[in-house]
Amino acid sequence: MNALDDAGWQPWDWQQRVAAQQPEWPDPEALDAVIKELAQRPALVVAKDVDRLRAALARAARGRAFVLQAGDCAESFHDHSASSLRAKLKIILQMAVVLTYSSGVSVVKIGRIAGQFAKPRSAPVEVVDGATLPSFRGHIVHDDAPTLDARRPNPERLLWAYDQSRATVSVLRALTEGGFADLSGAHRWNLDFVASSPEGQRYQAIADGVDRALRFMAGCGIDLEREAVLHQVNVWTSHEALLLPYEAALTRRDPASQRYYDLSAHMVWVGERTRQLDGAHLRFASGIANPVGLKVGPTMEPDTLVEACRILDPDRTPGRLVLISRMGHDAVRDRLGGLVEAVREAGYPVVWLCDPMHGNTFVSQSGYKTRRFEDVMDEIAGFFEVHRRLGTHAGGIHLELTGEDVTECLGGSEAVLESELCRAYDTICDPRLNARQSLDLAFRVAELLIR
Ligand code: PEP
Ligand code: MN
Repeated sequence: MNALDDAGWQPWDWQQRVAAQQPEWPDPEALDAVIKELAQRPALVVAKDVDRLRAALARAARGRAFVLQAGDCAESFHDHSASSLRAKLKIILQMAVVLTYSSGVSVVKIGRIAGQFAKPRSAPVEVVDGATLPSFRGHIVHDDAPTLDARRPNPERLLWAYDQSRATVSVLRALTEGGFADLSGAHRWNLDFVASSPEGQRYQAIADGVDRALRFMAGCGIDLEREAVLHQVNVWTSHEALLLPYEAALTRRDPASQRYYDLSAHMVWVGERTRQLDGAHLRFASGIANPVGLKVGPTMEPDTLVEACRILDPDRTPGRLVLISRMGHDAVRDRLGGLVEAVREAGYPVVWLCDPMHGNTFVSQSGYKTRRFEDVMDEIAGFFEVHRRLGTHAGGIHLELTGEDVTECLGGSEAVLESELCRAYDTICDPRLNARQSLDLAFRVAELLIR
């Protein structure tokens, strides 16, 4: 049966299944009131744009585009200035230019942005400075301060998350459509602290090349003013569909097609800890028309994955399903191939992305959760090797990064050392690549793309 037209599916019927990783809201009535309020609010994105992203992802599924999905592990209520958003956008645009300029492949840009607030956790409690506290589940649930009071779930925060997402969407739109993303300004995307670095200089050379290409096209008589792709970009929004009441409240039926869209974002994904076949998250995701991602970790078995594909993409629609492999650098070469083959044999036209972050996290001697740049790169290299061997398309990468000059991941060309993690460890959840590490990574991925 076609799940998208499934007359039996309803935005709230996941409530009949077990929903993993939901906070224990202290006051269910207060949560209900918030949900009612959210359901009245305007959608954050429009269905037509969700369809455009699906079409772009369909090109990636056919091997004609590469996906760059990137942003914070968890967005913060404390830091959402226009300047940090601009920095995040700059690094994503720079990486896309590097990839396209080097390989000639078009890049579908998707932020972990404008709604990436809820976090699943491996353990329900954590010990901070000797105190045992409920684990931090994201600012949409509670504050990150290490006190019992701060960690009490507050449903009002769903509305704050909505408000911040709405503001983010509007700044993003102003920047991507209002001249900031014009390709003729690619020089200006270099961030101050990046410009003098080897990656920054390498990027300047590419921006010079872009200028020359634009002058060449103009010289050939092409009217550059009229070529909208040179002046605007699409940066689509995405987040993990973890808090199902929030997602269901923002799910709306499109009057034209009669299909349900989760209009909290263009794309949502189901995480590694909530992907049970009979669970609430897959049930919810099965009925929305958005492109849907599914995290695929090292314990996933081929049969289970094929069954998840059947639940999420029964019609085998290109651009509908994005499988996000997060194996760890030491497991990717062993684990991924069998899964890719099983999905291919079952005929699902998925996009495969590599998330080289979540299988490579460890705690440093000094107590910081971190990742090594070489492990991240090694997982990406392994991902490309597997796809090359099987003749399938390495469809893109899924990263945690920031435009700021943070010290959260180790290594890279600037060689962040363990002793330096404390200098600017600003993340509220997982460690992110800083702008130099991200640019460095883009140059290396470009080499893998043309090999
Ligand atoms: C994440 O993407 O932040 C995350 C928690 O990933 P995963 O579900 O793959 O562990
Ligand atoms: Mn994360």
